[in-house]
Amino acid sequence: MSKTVTVNERSYAFPKAPVVVVCIDGSEPDYMTEAMAAGRMPWLKGMLPAGSDLRADCVVPSFTNPNNLSIVTGQPPKVHGICGNFFYDPAKDAEVMMNDPAYLRAPTLFAAFQKEGAKIAVITAKDKLRRLLGKGLEMKAGEAVCFSAEKADEATVAENGIDGLLDLVGKPVPSVYSADLSEFVFAAGVKLMESLRPDLMYLSTTDYIQHKHAPGTEGANDFYAMLDGYFAELDAAGAIIVLTADHGMNAKHKADGSPNVLYLQSALDAFLGDGKARTILPITDPYVVHHGALGSYATVYLPKDADFAAVAEFIEGLEGVERVLTREEAAADFELPPERIGELVVVTEKTRAVGTRPDKHDLSGLEVPLRSHGGVSEQVVPLIVNRRVSGLEGRRLRNFDAFDIALNHAEASRAAAAE
Ligand code: ZN
Ligand code: ZN
Repeated sequence: MSKTVTVNERSYAFPKAPVVVVCIDGSEPDYMTEAMAAGRMPWLKGMLPAGSDLRADCVVPSFTNPNNLSIVTGQPPKVHGICGNFFYDPAKDAEVMMNDPAYLRAPTLFAAFQKEGAKIAVITAKDKLRRLLGKGLEMKAGEAVCFSAEKADEATVAENGIDGLLDLVGKPVPSVYSADLSEFVFAAGVKLMESLRPDLMYLSTTDYIQHKHAPGTEGANDFYAMLDGYFAELDAAGAIIVLTADHGMNAKHKADGSPNVLYLQSALDAFLGDGKARTILPITDPYVVHHGALGSYATVYLPKDADFAAVAEFIEGLEGVERVLTREEAAADFELPPERIGELVVVTEKTRAVGTRPDKHDLSGLEVPLRSHGGVSEQVVPLIVNRRVSGLEGRRLRNFDAFDIALNHAEASRAAAAE
């Protein structure tokens, strides 16, 4: 019998060929469809007839960290605990960053596979995610590496399992606000596929491009053309590749280009009195220049004596609101850890962002009309495999099934492409 590894109550076959899961941050399905139509992704277009072009639902809130942690644990946030970039801790009466690996409650596939002798490579664009993804992984040169493009020049064998990255990749450290940050991830991935030949590789980019450029535009197509070249190299190396995304991306601006925002804290201050409710936007992080901390998801903490049903009804009546859920409903429907969300969860419509108060959002860094994510409208993402897959009939596919599909459902070799 072939070896299996069980992680978070799911079983995975030990890989016979290198498995590469790529999380393309903010990759609404149209990005690749449009780039292929424009002739900018020749590898992908040529591969698809012999592969699988699927769609999957990401985790709501459709943010980066909850979804990356879901992909690498194979489970929703109620299991791994990461449901945003930060949350309000009522016991401390403080808004606490959730970037600390201490908040991650479930082991990753990487840590579990390493114990079974697998070689692992994890490469992220931003360093804040690197620490979460690397939790439990024992860094070892030639066995397990985990680093970010952002801090590639600071990588050490002790901390990252590798050093000398700039020489290996032949590129300088990219700016954190650039397409180069994501390109470095792939350039390093291709080099490591040759030198380390990991059993499991995870590559995770940033959505810098997707926040600025709509599908089919020149800026977007240039980015996907760049990706396509690296996918071709990983494919030529014999890897089973799964392309998915942490979430989609939609325009959330008015016809004049100004952000289309529901300022929820302002509305609640008017309804309940100043500062009675607390609106938390879990999209907020140290890198907000490209979205001004505006997404389509908020959670609201209410005073104990508030009439929760009346507040929910008030919010439901506000323009641009798609859904208001109680804590229990959100925990059930979105599979979230109830103790890390407020009394209410608010999701706004596809074209509408949710903010706190106008004076709390610095929009000076928004160089182009707002595009963002966080809601149910950004839930559908690509799930593309460079192999035929089987045994998935009748299942609701999730982006966090990526490793399951690569390890348990993909054919070992590529089918011959039909003419
Ligand atoms: Zn993201
Ligand atoms: Zn984003």
